[in-house]
Amino acid sequence: MRLYNTLGRKIQDLHPIKPGEIGVYACGPTVYWFAHVGNLRTYVFVDVLRRALARSGLKVKLVMNVTDVGHLSSDADEGEDKMLIAMRREGKTAYDIARFYEEAFVKDLGRLNILPADAMPRATDHIEGQIDMIKRLEKNGFTYQTADGIYFDTSKLPEYGMLSGQKAEDKKAGARVEMGEKKNPTDFALWKISPSTSSGHKREMEWESPWGKGFPGWHIECSAMSKQYLGAPFDIHTGGIDHVPVHHENEIAQTQGAEGVLEANVWMHGEFLTVDGGKMSKSLGNLFTLDDLMSRGYDPLAFRYFCFGAHYRTKLNFTWEALTAAQNALNRLREIVRGWDTPGNVGCADHENAFLAAIEDDLNTPEALAAMWKMIEDASLPTSARSRTVLFMDQVFGLKLGEFIGKPVEVPEDVKMLVQAREAARKAKDWKESDRLRDEIATRGFTVEDGLHGPVIKKA
Ligand code: AMP
Ligand code: ZN
Repeated sequence: MRLYNTLGRKIQDLHPIKPGEIGVYACGPTVYWFAHVGNLRTYVFVDVLRRALARSGLKVKLVMNVTDVGHLSSDADEGEDKMLIAMRREGKTAYDIARFYEEAFVKDLGRLNILPADAMPRATDHIEGQIDMIKRLEKNGFTYQTADGIYFDTSKLPEYGMLSGQKAEDKKAGARVEMGEKKNPTDFALWKISPSTSSGHKREMEWESPWGKGFPGWHIECSAMSKQYLGAPFDIHTGGIDHVPVHHENEIAQTQGAEGVLEANVWMHGEFLTVDGGKMSKSLGNLFTLDDLMSRGYDPLAFRYFCFGAHYRTKLNFTWEALTAAQNALNRLREIVRGWDTPGNVGCADHENAFLAAIEDDLNTPEALAAMWKMIEDASLPTSARSRTVLFMDQVFGLKLGEFIGKPVEVPEDVKMLVQAREAARKAKDWKESDRLRDEIATRGFTVEDGLHGPVIKKA
């Protein structure tokens, strides 16, 4: 398999550290709100990666963290902890909020047929490991203390910036950075001393540490937990493209400073899902959750299918029209395989190879989809062979096509009669009656479409 590595910016052959096995760490959600469909695009990408690796014969261990403390409202060290913002909004405890949104996230993953991670460690359950790592950084001379915390001194690590190619000086010249007592603009918090120590104000999430009561910075959890669950270095680290300049740069620095090794060999980043060509945001009213899609009648797997239409390293623009097109394509796919024979013993090697060539070329899902449709429409092959091959491809696509193959829709007699009556009304150009009958059919859980060769009945 060939994958694009952000570190080094090139496509390269994959060489697992331990032959036959592969460790993948996916930066997980910050559980202070529902995941939006942009977040979910990133996890669909990770799932395709994981399934493609497993299909190629590797034993995959996927670890996805849950950020339930320390992620401030900017990805750097400014603003408030996102959990505290949610506490104020909802009048609940930070832990109640974290568990509620974690559960909602896991439910979304299930609805998208994203396979569960082998471990989903929470930051708040791994405070000790994070403190240990900060202690090692301290011992190795990479930290300094300010009034509000312990910081990583990026000037002590000559390789800092290796992922984004961004140098500390560039940052100084560029964006406005809240320096506070920081020595360098790229320095970042490892441990934040909670205000309770100085002002008597009590923070709900805080822990004892050698530097005073407080809470970890956002980045340290990923370095500490990835090491605990996968070792250092491990094989593949994933996340959204926004993680390149800050979060992942800082993770690399921490592991380098504490363990003296590169955190992960391959770094993969999914591009953003945009809406109307721009950023999704609540204030613009264009931020959608999976529930929003479902309440408009879309199948979550239609969103999954929609994601495959663009390579993970290109932007994908979300529109309702595009989602409708994906839903229609998925419906058509299901209808087609319903009419097929169950899988035989032989598939279609040429089509399978075309599909694999696309997937193993840095997860080229648009080409893999095209290969699937080409196979589906290849009438020279018996449907039993096509069934087998579509299942082969669905190991990676995860569209649950197995639930549809060889299962024609069974239409009850009363629905058949209503459809006949509707045909008669249409022939008589009685559109009012024909519409009424369509609604009547819908109340029984079926839809009827006017196909080229007569009405096509589908389960709604
Ligand atoms: P968060 O919960 O904010 O930590 O984000 C979870 C994941 O979603 C991270 O990997 C982000 O990089 C990713 N992400 C955030 N916004 C988008 C977007 N619009 N499109 C794709 N991925 C995104
Ligand atoms: Zn992370």
